Amino acid sequence: MQPNSFIGSPIFPAFILLPFSATASIMVSMSQSVILYRLQQIDSQLDESRSRWAAIETSLKDDAILRQADQNAHEAEAAFQTSQKALHRAEMAVHDQRIKIEQTEAALYGGKVRNPKELQDLQKDAASLKKYILVLEDNQLEAMMALEETETAHKNAQAALLETIAHLAEHNSGLKGELTNIQKAIERLEVERQATLSAISPEILSLYEQLRQQRRGIAVARLQDKSCAACGSTLTPAMAQTAHTSQQLIRCPSCGRILYAG
Ligand SMILES: [Zn+2]
Repeated sequence: MQPNSFIGSPIFPAFILLPFSATASIMVSMSQSVILYRLQQIDSQLDESRSRWAAIETSLKDDAILRQADQNAHEAEAAFQTSQKALHRAEMAVHDQRIKIEQTEAALYGGKVRNPKELQDLQKDAASLKKYILVLEDNQLEAMMALEETETAHKNAQAALLETIAHLAEHNSGLKGELTNIQKAIERLEVERQATLSAISPEILSLYEQLRQQRRGIAVARLQDKSCAACGSTLTPAMAQTAHTSQQLIRCPSCGRILYAG
């Protein structure tokens, strides 16, 4: 039987035996169990669609990856700027030292200072200044290397940020497309559900909804090889026979779900 072929078909009167006991069965037409099974399929698809919808909504709101990439880029930029300032300070220190050396040597060789003691002191100063400029030049070299490193890290972090933005845009666009499809599917299923509901008696629908709540959304289970497909419980041969041949609505003796033998 095609999924929709029962819609609009005549519904036979249902005889209900409630409440449920392990051996209870409900006298209904065979078409009711077919319709109930179809309703279960529709509801399971709706559950799945809504669950996926919620997961996509959560995913679309989740910008943790973007925020992390943005933070990395900001930190890399800050480190790069710190390195630039450190290099500038190191360059200035070397520059100042060179001026001191030039001034000391100008005094030493300018001819204005003639006192031997003063000249000796100036010579010592010049030697000391020249010795220390080597340390300052080393510092400058290290600062240049550090700057190269932070500059590369900054460029990489910027590229990673742009890549993350592009990837997220593509990913989210795909998710939004999926949302549109899910919305259409839900609308389609809702229409079919309404049509199906009109063919189910209120008592059986109430039982169905109750079982849906109690049994993690599955109220109707297939009968597979004399077993309940939902809980695996095996029916007695007599019950299995009844499920296949009669118009009685059979419920699993273990989990209470309505069994569909089609
Ligand atoms: Zn069962």
